[in-house]
Amino acid sequence: MSSTVPPEATTLIALLNSRAHAIHAEKLDSPEHATEVLRRLGHAGIGVSAAQLAELRALRADLMAVLTAEHDGEDPAPFWAAFTARTSGVTYQQQYAAPARVSLEQVTGDPLVGRVARLTAELIASGQWTRMRLCANDVCSSVFYDTSRSRTQRWHSYEICGNKHNVARYRSRARLRAETD
Ligand SMILES: [Zn+2]
Repeated sequence: MSSTVPPEATTLIALLNSRAHAIHAEKLDSPEHATEVLRRLGHAGIGVSAAQLAELRALRADLMAVLTAEHDGEDPAPFWAAFTARTSGVTYQQQYAAPARVSLEQVTGDPLVGRVARLTAELIASGQWTRMRLCANDVCSSVFYDTSRSRTQRWHSYEICGNKHNVARYRSRARLRAETD
């Protein structure tokens, strides 16, 4: 039996895997390349500024530093502190309505930063952040969500990264790509 991937994790993983890694190019270098990630973050993609994309890349780097420290068995505290500082301009407020409804509305800060902060907070609060992993194939290093009951999944895909033959092929593709870039 395994758990399903919560939507918060799916969205965050799309952000984290938008960085240049393995055979994948950077997706947050232009509004055109960022469209899919922005859409997942609830942004229409129209009128996104270079500064907003830079901020998203910085948030992504903070969270990648946390995941990398966790992956390497090192203390992620300094990277959580950096993420806290970078999201400190975001505040949320509870909005109450009848019949007895409550929603959390962002009142300050950039909506994209607010969205990333909220998704991360929700994953942590529900105990699911610990399922966010880096693929053990260091050539791949994709972020994935560990759905295994034992929480011991090592590769983002066993077929691609857990199989030695495929790893070698993937590595040569990555090398080829690095050489031609
Ligand atoms: Zn992998």
